[in-house]
Amino acid sequence: MNTDHVDYEEFSGWVDPPADLAPALTKDLSCDVAVIGGGLNGMSTALRLAERGRDVVLLDAEFCGHGASSRNAGQVAGALGGDIQLLNMLYRKKMPALSRFTERAAHNVENLIEKFDVDCDYEPTGNVFAAVSRGQLGRVRRVAKILQRGGTHVELGSSEELGIPRGFLGGMRELDGGIMNPGRFTLGLRRALLSSDARVFERTKVVDVTRRGGQVVISTPRGEVRANKAVLATNAFAGEWDITPPRLSVPIWVIEVETEPIDPERLAALGWTSRSGLVTQHNIMENYRLTSRNTIVFGVRRLERGTRYPLPPKKADPALVEELGQAFAMRFPALSDVAVDRAWGGWIAITSSWLPLAGQLGEDIFYSIACNGHGLAQAPYVGSLMADLIVDGRRHEDLEVLWRKKPRFPRPMMMGPLGLRTIWAVDRFNDLVNGSRRNARKGSMHRDGVAEGG
Ligand SMILES: Cc1cc2nc3c(=O)[nH]c(=O)nc-3n(C[C@H](O)[C@H](O)[C@H](O)COP(=O)(O)OP(=O)(O)OC[C@H]3O[C@@H](n4cnc5c(N)ncnc54)[C@H](O)[C@@H]3O)c2cc1C
Repeated sequence: MNTDHVDYEEFSGWVDPPADLAPALTKDLSCDVAVIGGGLNGMSTALRLAERGRDVVLLDAEFCGHGASSRNAGQVAGALGGDIQLLNMLYRKKMPALSRFTERAAHNVENLIEKFDVDCDYEPTGNVFAAVSRGQLGRVRRVAKILQRGGTHVELGSSEELGIPRGFLGGMRELDGGIMNPGRFTLGLRRALLSSDARVFERTKVVDVTRRGGQVVISTPRGEVRANKAVLATNAFAGEWDITPPRLSVPIWVIEVETEPIDPERLAALGWTSRSGLVTQHNIMENYRLTSRNTIVFGVRRLERGTRYPLPPKKADPALVEELGQAFAMRFPALSDVAVDRAWGGWIAITSSWLPLAGQLGEDIFYSIACNGHGLAQAPYVGSLMADLIVDGRRHEDLEVLWRKKPRFPRPMMMGPLGLRTIWAVDRFNDLVNGSRRNARKGSMHRDGVAEGG
């Protein structure tokens, strides 16, 4: 795959930054609730609070949608992410409630698109846990059983049955969710927020969150916000202040790349009739999805740990773009001559439980991390549930399942640079073994005069 002329984006490949930035905060002010961070999570909290008549202020360091929300792969998940077999071992009793949460999160995205009339190319295709080896196929079958027992709507099938490219052996489709342009979705929500009664300040980096005189004091370079309640919704950037619970999450940098536009006939020849987004079953997934501009967006495969706050702005690493290109050529051999047009990345937050979580510090500060690579659906849902908690004083059952009674979090396992490198190496070793097996099978088919399969 040609990666010689890649445009390394500082923001996102999906959309340009908005031109109509809201003003920065330049004086002190007071409000009932302050929301810090204007990703899908924070924006949904602020929108819902404004809808419910609360005096709400939202502050974002850059602009609403600057973070992962506009940069992701646009795969709206209807099921849990992470290692579902491990999650089932650790949280078996919670699995039905988590299934309910994830499916409702996907439906919430669809409701938001309709409610705010957001043009984001949403296609309710579901997403497929796609297997690239027999080992992954076995894993998918076990995962499907667990999810079905929990009540998640999934179906197993071969690549033909699922309408996915023949380079994959088959897999499991989540029936809820689909694919979209996440940049357009996020900026659509931003537009709705700016038209609401919420007061929004962009280019306003919060430098500290403290308490004084019975209020939460949010410090920014040119003004202070005093609020009765505050919501921390800065996702991977959450660890910047002393008030954040230690080890709430680990910041991880991941990337996506996009091919040049591909001839529709060549795309049709792939057999990707369902257009479902794909995630492989490696320990660190690869994801692939079609777009409305006849390109394929794909990414991840390697996780890079952020080592200090504030998290720096970054561009995609050309070596990883190259590696992703090689993986693409392996999964889509018929398209191995296609070039990569652009690459970008973003910071996500991984929790030690690999589950989204939410909680409270004292009576007046709320926090949530709804990510682990699945926040496109989960972050806006958790955001609105947080707003309802603040207004009603009661936790919805879907927030209850994420709730941490105490803000204490164990040290995350395998999330250091060495651990992440080891996980990556295990995936590559398995790819190598599977590649040799595939070649051996092809060789023996040739010897026996059998036509080659996909
Ligand atoms: C490359 C990539 C691919 C992904 N693919 C998918 C996918 O296909 N499906 C899926 O479900 N999820 C995916 N995700 C994850 C998903 O994008 C996130 O879980 C989700 O967007 C998190 O939303 P958020 O609102 O919590 O955080 P963010 O969108 O990161 O928002 C945080 C906001 O906080 C602001 N902020 C930070 N620090 C401060 C400060 N000090 N003061 C004020 N504001 C501050 C930032 O500017 C930002 O706007 C992906 C993420 C990435 C990066």
